[in-house]
Amino acid sequence: MAQETIFSKIIRREIEADILFQDDLVTAFRDIAPQAPQHILIIPNHLIPTVNDVKASDEAALGRMITVAAKLAKEAGIDEDGYRLIMNCNKHGGQEVYHIHMHLVGGRMLGPMLQ
Ligand code: 5GP
Repeated sequence: MAQETIFSKIIRREIEADILFQDDLVTAFRDIAPQAPQHILIIPNHLIPTVNDVKASDEAALGRMITVAAKLAKEAGIDEDGYRLIMNCNKHGGQEVYHIHMHLVGGRMLGPMLQ
């Protein structure tokens, strides 16, 4: 059984977060330590620890994450200039929270992706 993270508490609104969107499949909220003027996390409502754990039955939630990212980018007014969607996996990918999440980062010119 996968271990819940702080993100499950955010989904259930047991701890504070600036939630921008929530439906039956996904939740989107502002990152607590933004790396750019717009830094939003979009997560499935059910716990999937890493991208390695994704199953075919998760595809609806994963697809919704991208649809919601595009909607929030448009609402933030960063869709035309552009933005980046990032999913980190495990240690080498820099994953810190083991509930998969898509970072939506934008609002400024971003540097090279790989370090
Ligand atoms: P990762 O490195 O796992 O891809 O990204 C985790 C992200 O979650 C980080 O950008 C971090 O700032 C954010 N984060 C961690 N804990 C919290 C929290 O309690 N609330 C919010 N809003 N963001 C968090």
